[in-house]
Amino acid sequence: MSATHEVFNQPAPLVDVNLYDGNRAMQDALRFNAPALDTAPLHALGQQVGSADMQTHARLANVFTPQLKSYSRFGHRIDQVEFHPSYHALMTAATAAGLHGTPFADAEQATGTAHMNRAAAFMLFTELEPSMLCPISMTYAVTPALRDNAAIYRDWSPGLTSRAYDPALKPFNEKAGLTTGMGMTEKQGGSDVRANTTQAVPDGADGWGQRFSVTGHKWFFSAPMCDAFLILAQTPNGLSCLFLPRVLPDGSLNQLFIQRLKDKLGNKANASSEVEFVGATAWLVGEEGRGVPQILAMGTMTRLDCALGTSGLMRHALSIALNHTTQRSAFGKKLIDQPLMKNVLADLALESEAATALALRLARSFDRTSDAHEQAMQRLLTPVAKFWICKRGSYFAQEAMECLGGNGYVEEGGEGIMARIYREMPVNSIWEGAGNIMALDLLRAVRKADAAAALAHELAPAKGLHPALDHLAASLPTRVELMATEMEARRLAQDVALAVQAALLAQTAPAAVFSAFCDSRLAGHWGHSFGSLGAGCDFDAIIARAQPR
Ligand SMILES: Cc1cc2nc3c(=O)[nH]c(=O)nc-3n(C[C@H](O)[C@H](O)[C@H](O)COP(=O)(O)OP(=O)(O)OC[C@H]3O[C@@H](n4cnc5c(N)ncnc54)[C@H](O)[C@@H]3O)c2cc1C
Repeated sequence: MSATHEVFNQPAPLVDVNLYDGNRAMQDALRFNAPALDTAPLHALGQQVGSADMQTHARLANVFTPQLKSYSRFGHRIDQVEFHPSYHALMTAATAAGLHGTPFADAEQATGTAHMNRAAAFMLFTELEPSMLCPISMTYAVTPALRDNAAIYRDWSPGLTSRAYDPALKPFNEKAGLTTGMGMTEKQGGSDVRANTTQAVPDGADGWGQRFSVTGHKWFFSAPMCDAFLILAQTPNGLSCLFLPRVLPDGSLNQLFIQRLKDKLGNKANASSEVEFVGATAWLVGEEGRGVPQILAMGTMTRLDCALGTSGLMRHALSIALNHTTQRSAFGKKLIDQPLMKNVLADLALESEAATALALRLARSFDRTSDAHEQAMQRLLTPVAKFWICKRGSYFAQEAMECLGGNGYVEEGGEGIMARIYREMPVNSIWEGAGNIMALDLLRAVRKADAAAALAHELAPAKGLHPALDHLAASLPTRVELMATEMEARRLAQDVALAVQAALLAQTAPAAVFSAFCDSRLAGHWGHSFGSLGAGCDFDAIIARAQPR
């Protein structure tokens, strides 16, 4: 082939950059929420996850997707999922960074900032590869629920908090590190888990407490190679939460059979499966018949991760868009200097910073569980942040992709990171409770006596700083108190999210960001697409702050 042209005006990709050092929104949010946090490990992680080597692992783990091996070549049922070595490299890095159960280790708890530190690290890692963070996230989330079976927790917590990754299929006490997953959703119902038909029959008791024999199925079961799962099943006293290990303490495989792996839109590096339990052994966690609130202690934390993860994906998409438009020219100027592109990029930067601020503020509440205000905000903001940030994700990714023109839409054998981000975005909105379920959960939260007062207290520091925020802040506590209809629950979730985001930006971001956010999102100087900020915004200041280098 003879070349007929010189290749030019094609931007260099964003590689070998420190993702923490370039993220001013995150740095300011951390200073605000956790002033005592030692950020040196985040700086080191930012360097690692921004490196070309790790990006190659992320690409390979998404191209060479997990494969189910149901049988050995000698015909034995083995139910194993085979992953590319790059998947294991990513899991090794994530566990070494303490993104799974590590914040619950005593030494981490003593810092008072364990969850905040981990939240920021989780966001940075999401920019590298989000899908394998599914088992990491569930291992993080399991502790609050699992603690209610003290014997199992005592035996498993060293492995759950260890910084070692050990993919071997072995009994828990022979492994250097452990992971956990979750099984609630069945074919006939995922949001309405009361419809679960999986049966658990009493099977005696031992050192781990009441034992059950479980028969039934799960329609979504991630990630099947985890060492154990919290599941819901019907026991004689109602829907209960059970602990089901893949390998039993005697070394035999539990009666858990992987039917097939899900063929998903995105989330390619992670395995999600359908399973059958045929007399599988499991132990009761918490009170029999109270399985839903028990497993929701896990769900609360995975919902935090959905908000953190989508914020990380937004930041990643924005950085790629900024990197591209800074280098690419059209119509005689760099794209980033074209007025309309400035408007799009600044608008995306506002959305990304607001998502970061809200997600990290929510994370703060997990470090301060003995503070009544933080408890109230955790209850209120978990569904709000999960709903609003994740709902904005797909729309955000589409607009960021468009900044790259046709290059944004191309997969290029896994090199097209924007396409990967776009395919990943919807999942955080669907799993762990889809949008309507989050809005309905907010209604349950606002029925608590202190919700309106807690929200007013949260918004108070921004009082008098912007008329539109004052107006919304004045009306919200009453709306929260009077809200009785499901029909308007999404609108309430949106307005609480916007008000809290604005109040946070007032305290963490430069005036250019705060005023443009309030003018557009709260005062109505905005259209229905990104890139419709009013002409009076300080576009250059907003964009300069968001630049990844
Ligand atoms: C990749 C992936 C991995 C997953 N991994 C797991 C896993 O490991 N473990 C697990 O248990 N589950 C898992 N899930 C399942 C996921 O949590 C469910 O799909 C989700 O909770 C929705 O349940 P559903 O699919 O049964 O939909 P449905 O419950 O049928 O809901 C469909 C729609 O109806 C809406 N809806 C439901 N009830 C109401 C109502 N009262 N009012 C208004 N709207 C309503 C929902 O918001 C949703 O939009 C996974 C899903 C995906 C996509």
